[in-house]
Amino acid sequence: MVSSANPFFDPSTLPFGFPPFADIRDEHYEPAFERGMADQLAEIQEIVRGRDEPTFDNTLVPLERSGQILERVGYVFFNKSSSDSSDFTNELEERIAPKLAAHHDAILLDPMLYWRVKTIHDAIQAGGDAAAGLDAEQRYLVERWYTEMTIAGAALDDAQKRRLRELNQEISTLTTRFEKNLLNDTNELAVHVTDVAELAGLGEGEVSAAREAAAARDLEGWLVTLVLPTGHPWLASLTDRGLRERIMTASRSRGGRGGEHDNRENVLRIARLRAERAELLGFSSHAAAVTADETARTPEAVADMLGRLAPAAARNARAEQADLAAVAGDLDGGLRASDWSFYTEKVRAEKYDVDTAALRPWFEAERVLHDGVFYAAHLLYGVSFTERPDLVAYHPDARVFEVSNEDGSALGLYILDLYTRDSKRGGAWMNPLISQDELLGHPGSVVVNNLNVPKPAAGQPTLLTFDEVSTFFHEFGHALHGLFAHVTYPKFSGTNVFRDFVEFPSQVNEMWMLWPEVLENYARHHETGEPLDPAVVERIRESEQFNQGFATSEYLGAALLDQAWHKLSSASAEAITDVAAFEADALRAVGLDDPLVPPRYGSTYFAHVFSGGYDAGYYSYIWSEVLDADTVEWFKENGGLTRANGDRFRSRLLGVGGSKDPLEAYRDFRGRDADIAPLLKRRGLD
Ligand SMILES: [Zn+2]
Repeated sequence: MVSSANPFFDPSTLPFGFPPFADIRDEHYEPAFERGMADQLAEIQEIVRGRDEPTFDNTLVPLERSGQILERVGYVFFNKSSSDSSDFTNELEERIAPKLAAHHDAILLDPMLYWRVKTIHDAIQAGGDAAAGLDAEQRYLVERWYTEMTIAGAALDDAQKRRLRELNQEISTLTTRFEKNLLNDTNELAVHVTDVAELAGLGEGEVSAAREAAAARDLEGWLVTLVLPTGHPWLASLTDRGLRERIMTASRSRGGRGGEHDNRENVLRIARLRAERAELLGFSSHAAAVTADETARTPEAVADMLGRLAPAAARNARAEQADLAAVAGDLDGGLRASDWSFYTEKVRAEKYDVDTAALRPWFEAERVLHDGVFYAAHLLYGVSFTERPDLVAYHPDARVFEVSNEDGSALGLYILDLYTRDSKRGGAWMNPLISQDELLGHPGSVVVNNLNVPKPAAGQPTLLTFDEVSTFFHEFGHALHGLFAHVTYPKFSGTNVFRDFVEFPSQVNEMWMLWPEVLENYARHHETGEPLDPAVVERIRESEQFNQGFATSEYLGAALLDQAWHKLSSASAEAITDVAAFEADALRAVGLDDPLVPPRYGSTYFAHVFSGGYDAGYYSYIWSEVLDADTVEWFKENGGLTRANGDRFRSRLLGVGGSKDPLEAYRDFRGRDADIAPLLKRRGLD
């Protein structure tokens, strides 16, 4: 019995096309995916059947208009499958992912479509009639489609394309399996504590979160649930050395300890298949194929940049280690990786008299949201936020806010999903549910921020850690990038920019966390309302370079590991059988093999690169941090948090999305190319 129409088939009538979550049920997804794919293929067929000479209007415009049902269902489904997954979403994702991969291939590899795009592209290059009347955004759209189709393999012959499709589908299945194994293993490896004394050092809220986590699984006692990176945030405050070691061991063993959730074979197969695919496309490695379509352009440019940083970072980490060892004194077996954050906090307290854990009472989540994150955006961009409890999102914890411009006009919707739960993957991220564009008449964007803050017991305030506040500002930077989109074509909207550029606006937004005007406004004690002591703030600033040797090294370790897996030729990838040995060799080769400073992610739980779309691209964070640090300098030189500065950054950079070459947009904003010096200075690497 079919009772009602599928809510994905037509545009939503809610504000900004907000998905009608109240009407969406599990059984709607698959038929919407199926029809979405079928409709888009029919739309593409319509384009390529045309007998007219290819033009922008008869090719690119209908191409950009195609696939609207698929986009609607895809955004909603993949948001759900990462932030509120279930057996149903896991099963459907595994089934639908290879079909979607095949679908995208069918479009990108369509020979007639490629011929049309190439014809227009070549005509523009030749300066012919096809170029006349096209504006810069339109020309860039042709350029982007042409490059993407070429790199996807559109110029290959039929037999090669057949193999390419097989590879894409197999890789897609393996990456989905990798993510599922990781989620399951992360849940399974949560550390069970039966004696509360072992939790000494944690705050009341953390202990009650651990209690709740145990209760949620019908366990007695407490449960320390793991987070995605190698280092768990609680390692900084747990005084029980044995428990610290158990947490670290559990964290690092994810996906690599045998059993049904083992990812080692997946890692090897993914690396091999990606190398084979790259060679088929005419590249020496997967990293070469990936960077060809990034601002970096080549793996050599990436290696060059990372290589400039690694020795200084490792040197600084060794110096930090000596400080830690001095404070730790005579430890049984010496200092271990699991001790690093704990003694780091001791040294921090001694050197700078800063105890970041003690700051939590000043970081109450509602205040951080309204008086910090929203407030900074208000001062810079004039935008304001009104909660819309009438708009029901996909989970009771996900709250909806309407965003308005200074003149009162509505800009879009912002969804905040703050809390961690077993059904949410680790980490923090932003994704759009609707993207602004003029072509399809989307007046604004609907974006979601997901964080993984432990939920306090009912009636208790949510007190954030220093890092969680920083993550909040970061993710909100992505949200603004999405919300400020002001483009004509869907392909360019918001965060649809090169991957090694996309972290730049979010990193810039982190600077407002400690900006005096902002901090003063939000960092108030949740019980007394008293502001954070300015002397403490001063010491936090002074301590910003502290532990940067470790932080930079663990990041670079992961970035270089990602490059190592993806710079392999298919022949050398075939020869590798031992994931742990490969990992150790790769880290040793760049001097980042200090056992006390493990990489931020080990291969078997490196979701960014084996399932998250950052393959051969984890370097992007530091690549875009060059732009970030240089931009922070600009804001400081120009008076900081002003409306004029905000407007310039919004109109020249955030709003243009991917509609022009990002380095050109950067020059428009900054008045010159980026300079690396501010980054080196920030991380103490100069
Ligand atoms: Zn980010």
